Amino acid sequence: MSKHELPKLPYAYDALEPYIDAKTMEIHHTKHHQAYTDKLNAALEGCPSDLQNLAIMDVVSNVESYPDEKKSAINFNGGGYYNHELFWKSMKPNGGGEPGGAVEDAIDAAFGSFSSFKEKFSSNTAVIQGSGWGWLVYNLKTSKMEYKSLPNQTNPYTVGLVPLLGCDVWEHAYYLKYQNKRPDYIAAWWNVVNWDEVASRFSTV
Ligand code: MN
Repeated sequence: MSKHELPKLPYAYDALEPYIDAKTMEIHHTKHHQAYTDKLNAALEGCPSDLQNLAIMDVVSNVESYPDEKKSAINFNGGGYYNHELFWKSMKPNGGGEPGGAVEDAIDAAFGSFSSFKEKFSSNTAVIQGSGWGWLVYNLKTSKMEYKSLPNQTNPYTVGLVPLLGCDVWEHAYYLKYQNKRPDYIAAWWNVVNWDEVASRFSTV
């Protein structure tokens, strides 16, 4: 099988300061993302070879194709592996602002305005119970963007939606700096969103 590897961060651990602190980034990447990577590889062992060698996007898109005893681990660790890869790329130093272009047009069409989108995303993501992610997704059936919150590490592709931008609200993503103040973390996170990456992803749907 071809093993999945922990991707390098496209910036230094302290690059997103003061919004996301270096220690959180380092632990999140070297411990949490590494653990999803290792457990994904372990879960893929023993699966039919055609299912072992899929690209990660196809792994999370086809969780139901895996053997019953593997589905839960593939969903959790495959999602964990892929979600974090998307997450690192969806942030950058000096990010934030408004997306402009086709992304903003689609956000306006779906949510009324960029500020309405941001409010909906923030308020719904703040109240996710336990661990999960808030997502801006594209729905191929309606040809519209949507907000979607998903539990634990389930990736939007697993439920038939295209992930465009995700905010990790597991406590490991923010607790060192923000403790119980999840809304403050989300408010800070908007300052590092990499809208160029979202535009790039949106251009392929
Ligand atoms: Mn995480």
